[in-house]
Amino acid sequence: MAHCGVSQMSVAIGVGVDPCVRESGFKTHSVNLRGTTWAPVLSLDSKVPRVRSKNKSAIRMSVQQAISQKVAVSPLALEKAKEPPLNLFKPKEPYTATVVSVDRLVGPNAPGEVCHIVIDHGGNVPYWEGQSYGVIPPGENPKKPGSPHNVRLYSIASTRYGDYFDGRTASLCVRRALYFDPENGKEDPSKAGVCSNFLCNAKPGDKVQITGPSGKIMLLPEEDPNATHIMIATGTGIAPFRGYLRRMFMESVPKYKSGGLAWLFLGVANSDSLLYDDEFNKYLQDYPDNFRYDKALSREQNNKRGGKMYVQDKIEEYSDEIFRLLDGGAHIYFCGLKGMMPGIQETLKRVALERGENWDEMLSRLKKNKQWHVEVY
Ligand code: FAD
Repeated sequence: MAHCGVSQMSVAIGVGVDPCVRESGFKTHSVNLRGTTWAPVLSLDSKVPRVRSKNKSAIRMSVQQAISQKVAVSPLALEKAKEPPLNLFKPKEPYTATVVSVDRLVGPNAPGEVCHIVIDHGGNVPYWEGQSYGVIPPGENPKKPGSPHNVRLYSIASTRYGDYFDGRTASLCVRRALYFDPENGKEDPSKAGVCSNFLCNAKPGDKVQITGPSGKIMLLPEEDPNATHIMIATGTGIAPFRGYLRRMFMESVPKYKSGGLAWLFLGVANSDSLLYDDEFNKYLQDYPDNFRYDKALSREQNNKRGGKMYVQDKIEEYSDEIFRLLDGGAHIYFCGLKGMMPGIQETLKRVALERGENWDEMLSRLKKNKQWHVEVY
């Protein structure tokens, strides 16, 4: 399936009259999913009641439309909590969730495959944007016969309301890990990644054991509505940022306002490998003063030295602005493969030197002020 982007999924917006949505003052329609009425409840200690199938005449509308209209979601209990939910389900007693959908996110010319996987947790495994779920793939741990596989972590790519705005799902952005023999370049399926292949091969209705949510490093600081957020992603590192950006630009949440700048740098191999590009382009169109989006396509673009274009080259290109924003208190986030950090750190260090600044001092200051957020794997 070529370029089966999530933007092609659709959600149904009914003309219901949910009082919580009305109170929000943003929209007077409630969100319906697959012919069911949106349930405006979610709490850390209570289960989301089953949604009732009601509004048969719900109007199907694309996520793109949802973006431009901003979908009003109710102030759920999670908005009021002061602390994020943490480790509600542990590896010894995971939660059995259900796969809703698996969609290939990349085009035919992308090297490798990345899938968008929506998992129904029934509202029982709530999370905040920037957190991760653990997944225990089915089968036996080859290193510990008789024991389950170890947990693999995946950053959550949706907001706490999920892609259907009902607080019942979480979305993951997963790269299928394949193994190619370095000697002959041939794929060796016996060494393919266990969990990523399980997830990318999953079918709607399949069960998936999840743990978590975990992680506090990538939580979106929400206290300052005018904060600047600079997000640097490589590949599936886009996951937490998709969640942030949906919270900022797609959903209307009375408790959360975002009037500052969100600047996304995404590094992938080529244009077919871009992830959630339609969503981001729509934000650019609708919120040009609040959103910036720069792409580094290593196999299609060259940097100013004639080499491949990586995210650090984009950072260098805009270094004056980035350093000014950081001096002004901007948050900077990095997510993706571990290998991205040395090149980025080197670039930041070089730029700082050229500006007559001491990078090590600046970095300690950013860390101390909690402006520096890194999650690499
Ligand atoms: P594994 O089975 O664990 O294998 C790991 C690698 O070893 C694979 O590349 C496999 O091909 C190779 N291999 C297997 N057998 C051999 C062998 N005999 N010889 C040599 N090589 C071998 N990943 C995402 O895709 N998306 C995310 O959003 C994401 N978020 C993460 C967040 C965090 C905080 C962390 C820590 C990790 C995250 N990951 C994410 C990575 C994820 O947890 C897994 O590590 C990844 O999916 C690979 O797991 P796997 O079970 O498929 O591979």
